Amino acid sequence: PEMTLSDYIRVYGQEYADRIALVYFGVTISYSELDHLADKLAHGLLATGAGKGDVLAIQLPNTPQYVLALIAAARIGMKVTSVSALLTPPEVIHQCNDAKAKVLLTLDAIFNATQAALAGKIPSLQAVIVSSATEMLPGMPNATLCTTQLGDAAVEGLDAVLARADTGHIRVAVDLDDVLYLQYTGGTTGKPKGAQLSSRNILANNIQADVFYGYRKGKETVASAFPLFHIGGAAVLFNALCTASTFLVIADPRNIEQFCQEMKSFPPTILANVPALFQMLVNAPAFQQLDWSSLRVAVSGAAPFSVDEIKRLEAVVGAGKFCEVYGMTETAPVQTLNPASAFKPGYVGIPLPGTDLRIVDPESGENLPLGAPGEVVVSGPQVMSGYLAMPEASAESLREYEGKRWMHTGDIGFLDEEGYLKICDRSKDMLIVGGYKVFSVELESKLQSLPFVEMSAVVGRPDQERPGNDVVQVYVQRNDAEPRNDAKQKAAIIEFCRANMAPYKVPKEVFFVDAIPLTSVGKIDKKALRVT
Ligand code: ATP
Ligand code: MG
Repeated sequence: PEMTLSDYIRVYGQEYADRIALVYFGVTISYSELDHLADKLAHGLLATGAGKGDVLAIQLPNTPQYVLALIAAARIGMKVTSVSALLTPPEVIHQCNDAKAKVLLTLDAIFNATQAALAGKIPSLQAVIVSSATEMLPGMPNATLCTTQLGDAAVEGLDAVLARADTGHIRVAVDLDDVLYLQYTGGTTGKPKGAQLSSRNILANNIQADVFYGYRKGKETVASAFPLFHIGGAAVLFNALCTASTFLVIADPRNIEQFCQEMKSFPPTILANVPALFQMLVNAPAFQQLDWSSLRVAVSGAAPFSVDEIKRLEAVVGAGKFCEVYGMTETAPVQTLNPASAFKPGYVGIPLPGTDLRIVDPESGENLPLGAPGEVVVSGPQVMSGYLAMPEASAESLREYEGKRWMHTGDIGFLDEEGYLKICDRSKDMLIVGGYKVFSVELESKLQSLPFVEMSAVVGRPDQERPGNDVVQVYVQRNDAEPRNDAKQKAAIIEFCRANMAPYKVPKEVFFVDAIPLTSVGKIDKKALRVT
């Protein structure tokens, strides 16, 4: 039988009743508790007047409540739209209206600060459920509310909703092809787009990727600070829950001490993060000092990870464990995986089983020969059905031919003789200098070998003298441990680039910044650099 996420939890609630499902600040929630609490929350959601097909917006940091809400929604056929906890009120209003959210599950600290700005602005909203970040911690206070009404929507604390909810098992029949997630893209290159993902998209991708991870049912401990509002975090969570694994819920990825404390108590067998977080962890003594003997898989994805940084990670957690995935929200999310057992540095791996991948000329759509960079297009059971309410963007990205639906990714890459994919750049980040293509990612990863470079971002500004061309700029965040000397280090960068790359790639302008701006997912925010 085809099972949904919520079905898995129902089964494990019996079969793995006492196994720890979630760990949160050292507090544990078993699979039977998870199953029971998800039923309660499902009843609580129904009591707000919402039901099958309605949209639940979740704006929470990584918390057990988040996980419960995902399961509860699946249980009653609600769709979920995850709202980044870092969005401003206008962005929240935009996403909730775009998705037509009926219920908003949010954090007290966020809600109390933004409710005045939200009031009356989301007409579809019927109920707001407010949680505290510590709701599930024994002895910690529940949310404190400063209002009981938001426009026409009733506002209640999560504790109150759960307290009066029924407890019986609940399961609304759903079709695996129904939309489960209205999952907004990272917003790295522009306004986030709502990708419509079905249960099948997500479960299929879960199974496809597991061919490489080899989750042992009921035996894994998964540590990931990937935000759950992002498809990458959601996918890691799905992998964990569908295999009766123990999942460490990391509330604040920047709190490295806390993250490491949790991993000390529950040594992970699987570790999944975005590159920027791996970089922060690797530099932290608390991370270096952990016992990594039980770790089997360390997986990175969502953004480029340089070969040097991978080596640094392997020096801490051990060799032969690292793998990298490439994917996107629209493909729920993984397309290719660079397996630990046959890892090819600098590449993002081979297509997952059941995934067709081609490199085409972005203009003509013609297939390109091996080794030639072009647009990555992908087809498989993980490809979304389209963007919500964006027919033009959907038609642009999704094209039907040869009886398949192909996602045009907007990423530039090539395939080598062994079928490994190399991602060169996003087409939006690629620069043109003197008519030549310059891949920002190539420069960034090379600069990583300079000891004083912590992180860098290469962007272009329009070249006034040569219309249609870019002037190469590089923004550099320096390593705190190295002494600073602007003039000397600028010269070192230029000299290094001259020695290691073709002249047209050498940056014309070098800027030192305190911190490279990151998006809420932790990717380099190049659009923020371009405007300054
Ligand atoms: P938006 O589409 O709103 O601009 P986004 O593309 O960053 O944001 P996501 O769907 O989160 O939103 O990210 C997918 C993109 O991330 C891919 O298209 C690719 O550019 C990049 N990416 C993902 N994994 C990797 C990887 N392993 N190496 C290099 N780039 C990656
Ligand atoms: Mg994108």
